[in-house]
Amino acid sequence: MATIQHLGSSMKSLRSIDNLPSSKPVNILIVDDTLENIRLLSSILQKHGYKTRKAITGKMALTAVETDPPSLILLDIRMPDITGYEVCQNLKSNPKTFHIPIIFISAADDVNDKLEGFKAGGADYITKPFHIEEVLARVEHQLTIITAYQTINELNSRLEERVKKRTKQLEIANTKLSEMAFQDSLTKLPNRALLMKELCQAIERQTTNPDNKFAVLYLDCDRFKIINDSLGHLAGDELLIALSKRLKSILNSEDLLARLGGDEFIILLKKITDKFHVKSIIDKIFAGFQEPFILRDIEFFLSFSIGVVIDCSHYHEPEAILRHADIAMYKAKSQGKHQYKIFAQAMYDESCQHLQMETELRKGIPCSGLKLYYQTIIKLDTGKIVGVESLVRWFHPTLGQISPAELIAVAEETGLIIQIGGWILKQACYQLRSWQEQKIVDSSFYISVNVSAYQFSHSKFIQQLDEILAETQLSPECLKLEITETIIMDHSSFAATVIDKIRHRNIQLCIDDFGTGYSSLSYLHSFPVDNLKIDRSFINRLRTTPASFSMVQAMIQIAQNMGMNVIAEGIETPEQWEQLKLLNCHFGQGFLFSKPLEPEEMANLIVSSHSL
Ligand code: C2E
Ligand code: MG
Ligand code: MG
Repeated sequence: MATIQHLGSSMKSLRSIDNLPSSKPVNILIVDDTLENIRLLSSILQKHGYKTRKAITGKMALTAVETDPPSLILLDIRMPDITGYEVCQNLKSNPKTFHIPIIFISAADDVNDKLEGFKAGGADYITKPFHIEEVLARVEHQLTIITAYQTINELNSRLEERVKKRTKQLEIANTKLSEMAFQDSLTKLPNRALLMKELCQAIERQTTNPDNKFAVLYLDCDRFKIINDSLGHLAGDELLIALSKRLKSILNSEDLLARLGGDEFIILLKKITDKFHVKSIIDKIFAGFQEPFILRDIEFFLSFSIGVVIDCSHYHEPEAILRHADIAMYKAKSQGKHQYKIFAQAMYDESCQHLQMETELRKGIPCSGLKLYYQTIIKLDTGKIVGVESLVRWFHPTLGQISPAELIAVAEETGLIIQIGGWILKQACYQLRSWQEQKIVDSSFYISVNVSAYQFSHSKFIQQLDEILAETQLSPECLKLEITETIIMDHSSFAATVIDKIRHRNIQLCIDDFGTGYSSLSYLHSFPVDNLKIDRSFINRLRTTPASFSMVQAMIQIAQNMGMNVIAEGIETPEQWEQLKLLNCHFGQGFLFSKPLEPEEMANLIVSSHSL
């Protein structure tokens, strides 16, 4: 039996025959009003395995097609009721039968008849009396065309299927990509790119309606480096995930929490009323972090330093907001951490100045704008000058005179303190050596040099000290180093080793500004320090606050019991001098005796004091 795998007659009709079962026997409808023709065609076609049906009028043909659409139609043209052309036009105008190929079989052999047949939608034309071979060949030809169309059709739908699948995969990949582009991979929080977008939108909203106020919080985790350094980065990552979840739970769902990287987070409060509103959220954050985190059975307390930009009305660029929030955060950090600061213009000016100083310092090495001044240290009962303290000054061509505290802070931040501190130490040693050589001072006269915490804890400090003493040939007994109590408290075991080395070299140590840090007189036992400078703030209040008086008295007594020399700082009035003498304080320093002076002036002062 003849079968076709695929049926169809034109590209347009492909869809409608999609569902024809394959291996269906070919079903040919023969339409002719001459029974003889029908019989002949039918028997030949059947012999060749085709299934045939018959219709002897046009109308019958239309009914037969409607009942069961054939695979192909052999159609006579001249018939009593309606012509073959009309049957053909009818079927071709119907979407359900459009695809069925029609071969006209007619005695009319005129070219025009044939043209008419093709115009009506016929696929082929056979002239009567027909040759069997021709009929078979033309039938097969039509069936081959159908098969070809069907193949194309199938390929097409397979292709379409594949395209659909690929499109879906692409869509998924795209969604993933855009998630990755806007998401921090560790915490799954929005990243900087998304934050920038959201900030732009917030700026726009406020520009169109000033009531749409928003605020930005820049959070930096305090001491996170310690966790990373001690427990490793994996644990650090775990903690970052946990803390980002806790932060998120504190915020409203419409606010944005983004991670900038490391331990830095940004909160965009999209709708705020006033600064009290913002403050209440910050309070919630601080309160939320009072509970510890537990990681590998260890408890961790985490805190944040937060910089805040509340008034965002004049910002056009998100970067500027972040920069300012960062400056405020930095301020919070530098003022003791675990607190927040609201950005103010003065902070910006200060940070610009710091930057300028930093640049100048880097350019200015070795310390071109720096100069050492000296202030006398007095034996209080006799008024004799026993030594001087060196105090650095920086005269900046545009910024003017910069306070040593500021200079040292910037030098510490940039790491330049080692060079600058070294320069100061060398300069001071040379100075005393020069006064010794000029016989302005005798060998008991000493110079006291301030050493910053960073410089003191640097691994090269002792080496630097040795080199300077060797170069300047100053006797170590004439040198005192002033350190702050925080050095001892912060790096106790390391500090102890350095202190040992210093004392081993017969250099004296002096605790400066005593009483301003974590002072505890009791811990002084564990650190063999020879001198203690009582901070100016206590001397200031000696007369006015009885508590200060008792405190100073206690400090002097305890220190002296431990065999330490006590030096009172910031003596400005004869009364203070008198009181300190009464308290049996041996040494002092202050504007009453001399302000910090340039070396030449100091030399004159020392010389003139000899004649007193
Ligand atoms: P300090 O070491 O406690 O120095 C004493 C400070 O008190 C000096 O301020 C001095 O000018 C000031 N002073 C002295 N007597 C009086 C007084 O009677 N009344 C008042 N109101 N002030 C008085 P200065 O020079 O501004 O230095 C401030 C701080 O900067 C120093 O405090 C010291 O901690 C640091 N510093 C200064 N020079 C250096 C240095 O060469 N290296 C390091 N690392 N730090 C330095
Ligand atoms: Mg000092
Ligand atoms: Mg001091």
